[in-house]
Amino acid sequence: MFDSYSGYRLLSRLVIFLLLCFAVGLLINQVLWVMLIGTIGLLVWHYKQLSRLNYWLWRDKRLTPPNGSGSWEGVFNGIYRLQGKNRKRVSQLAYLLARFRQGAEALPDAAVVLDSENNILWCNKLAQLLLGLVWPQDNGQRIDNLIRHPDFSIYLKQADFSDPFELTDTQNDARVLEIRIMGYGSGQLLLIARDITRIRQLEGMRKEFVANVSHELKTPLTVLQGYLEMMQGMAEPGSPSIKAMEQMQQQTHRMRSMVEQLLVLSRIEDASAVNLEAKVNMALLMDTLKEEAQALAANKYQLCFESDADLNIYGNEMLLRSACSNLVSNAIRYTEPGGKVSIAWKRVPMGAQFSVTDTGEGIAPQHLTRLTERFYRVDSARSRQSGGTGLGLAITKHALSHHQSDLNIESQLGKGSCFSFIIPIHLIDMD
Ligand code: ADP
Repeated sequence: MFDSYSGYRLLSRLVIFLLLCFAVGLLINQVLWVMLIGTIGLLVWHYKQLSRLNYWLWRDKRLTPPNGSGSWEGVFNGIYRLQGKNRKRVSQLAYLLARFRQGAEALPDAAVVLDSENNILWCNKLAQLLLGLVWPQDNGQRIDNLIRHPDFSIYLKQADFSDPFELTDTQNDARVLEIRIMGYGSGQLLLIARDITRIRQLEGMRKEFVANVSHELKTPLTVLQGYLEMMQGMAEPGSPSIKAMEQMQQQTHRMRSMVEQLLVLSRIEDASAVNLEAKVNMALLMDTLKEEAQALAANKYQLCFESDADLNIYGNEMLLRSACSNLVSNAIRYTEPGGKVSIAWKRVPMGAQFSVTDTGEGIAPQHLTRLTERFYRVDSARSRQSGGTGLGLAITKHALSHHQSDLNIESQLGKGSCFSFIIPIHLIDMD
């Protein structure tokens, strides 16, 4: 056990030494001289200890301090204790760092740590494999010098990492990487890259399959419908087969509209970049919607229209029309006759808003987030009975996403719903 610090012991040693010198001085009747020689001796001894300490700190390779005597023993031992503590802390940190690196190596994704200037500080093995980084040679290099893609440089410069960045590597079997960047610590960034080629391929196969099946079903259904119409015309009035044929006709009609909507959906999904430079005459579109709504309502509903005639936008008319008409037809289909449906197109601070409000059955909150999924229906029987396919809101969502807009749904069970979307300001025609 090392001696710990004691101020009292130090002082008492000094006093005893001086008293001894004083006593010797008295004995030989030379108090002043003995005191002076004693003090000089003490000073020399302290310098000697100081030089031993210096030597041990700077030159000596031994870890244990030299044996200090007197008051210097505490100093030597104290420094040794501090060194031991630091060594322990350093080894703990090294252990933690090694564990963090092992953890990061075990990640199924490529991980790169960047500083605030986007320079690489560290990367795992998968990053070397997926992103082609070379470690440790690329240490300190800017990441956009190594991932050379103009869109990635823009993504990095914008520093808005709320959405992931998709990087298609055309040289590497069209490999698709999803890159996510998260900020942490003092301005540091963690870049995670994941290979999503397989997911994208499967998605493509699904889309292709749906589009092909829908397309192939169209012709047989048309033939079936044609023959049914012919047979209906030939059937004897009052014959029992008339009812059966009517039902067959209804069902083929449903199947046809489902196939058509599936085709619309795959077409919209496929349109990777919709040209948003064409002007859409919203006054005309609202007139068409009004006619459609009146035909569907058949005078059984109270219809309210409010439209800003000069509010036109840039976009794709076909997509916008199908988004709006789905919302209007839903409002009428899910509202009991006698109810009210209000359709509005107006300017709001964030852009131009289209909204359809009804006094219908409303939707329970747990369904709201799932309504835009394909074939999701709150009440399938009700949807089927009203001629629904379960695809209307999925089409609307996709059509709106091409216009950088989201579908907003507010609803209260038993009271009614409001479906709306806002077209951003930069797509509004200011002329
Ligand atoms: P569907 O063809 O079944 O109407 P949609 O995708 O258009 O399919 O709508 C999905 C579901 O959302 C509907 O089945 C219905 O349950 C619900 N829904 C849509 N609009 C309304 C509305 N205005 N009021 C109440 N429920 C609605």
